[in-house]
Amino acid sequence: MEFERMPRTTRFLDPRQDYRETTIESEIRRDPLTKMTGRIAHFAGAQYPELDLEELSRLSLSRGPCPFCPDLVEKVTPKFLPEIEPQGRFHRGEATVFPNLSPYDTHSAVTVMSAAHLVPVRDLSIERLKNAFGVSLEYFRAIYRTDQHMGYGLISWNYMPMAGASLLHPHLQIYATDHPGNFLGAEIKAAKAYRQETGRLFWQDLVTEEITRGERYLGAVGNTEWLVPFVPQSFIGDVQVIFPHRFSILDLTDGDLEQFGHGMTAVCRFMEKRHIYSFNVAFFPGHGPDDDTWVHARVSFRGMFNPVLHSADVSAIRQLYDEPFTTIYPEDIARDLRPLFH
Ligand SMILES: [Zn+2]
Repeated sequence: MEFERMPRTTRFLDPRQDYRETTIESEIRRDPLTKMTGRIAHFAGAQYPELDLEELSRLSLSRGPCPFCPDLVEKVTPKFLPEIEPQGRFHRGEATVFPNLSPYDTHSAVTVMSAAHLVPVRDLSIERLKNAFGVSLEYFRAIYRTDQHMGYGLISWNYMPMAGASLLHPHLQIYATDHPGNFLGAEIKAAKAYRQETGRLFWQDLVTEEITRGERYLGAVGNTEWLVPFVPQSFIGDVQVIFPHRFSILDLTDGDLEQFGHGMTAVCRFMEKRHIYSFNVAFFPGHGPDDDTWVHARVSFRGMFNPVLHSADVSAIRQLYDEPFTTIYPEDIARDLRPLFH
């Protein structure tokens, strides 16, 4: 398996060193599966100031009540047709699933994850995560029962406004679709080609390879495997979890979700320490074993380049050239995260 690095060196006269000649290293990397590239550059610009989340919470309620808070969620959110769920909505613990008012596809729903409006990372408990993701799977099972078909069961999470959440109250976007999207589509195509060429599963080989190399592997939590991807999608870095031998979102068990919750609490401890307040999570499942893809998910840290100006962490290089850009070597993030997984 090839982890291709294309190092680059820049030379210039540095105003910070009396205009002496200086050299700066950066790197282009190629993903071992999709062959898509990303850049790693020592960017001194990333800032991690402390945020006043209570203030953000007050601001979020200043123009009216939140539709996901307990007194409104049962009054203002849509209900499913009886053939999908006779009670109208799915419930487990504090979590509730209802149809998305603005659907992404024919079957599109929202999972409100908590009763609390503001949930900082330290309050993202295993129980909360297990219930929210577990009840989302109940929705997918109901779609499968109703249609005898589901396609790809996609779960995504924009945690906090810096990750694109329009409401502060934690919620998941979940939908079933035959169109897995460009990134997952490319992964599946490449995993099928890998299987044809080698007779083996890419995701199994990746886990073995990362354990052997040890540079980016974080550890196992039960059956789940955790690592930092070679090519991150975020400017701060990504964490990846792989669910061995699970091919579709419907293959995930309560045990898998509990282990996912355990791993996420380690990630959350890292975030607290680093003043990282926001992430995107996406689950990448196949539609079944034919896709040669073990279910995996990425946590992609989000923030602002310049918090004073509210500068987004996505600029032209990501938005238009479609090139991910990361300011920290994945191996360095892995070194800091690894102790939290043991
Ligand atoms: Zn709320």
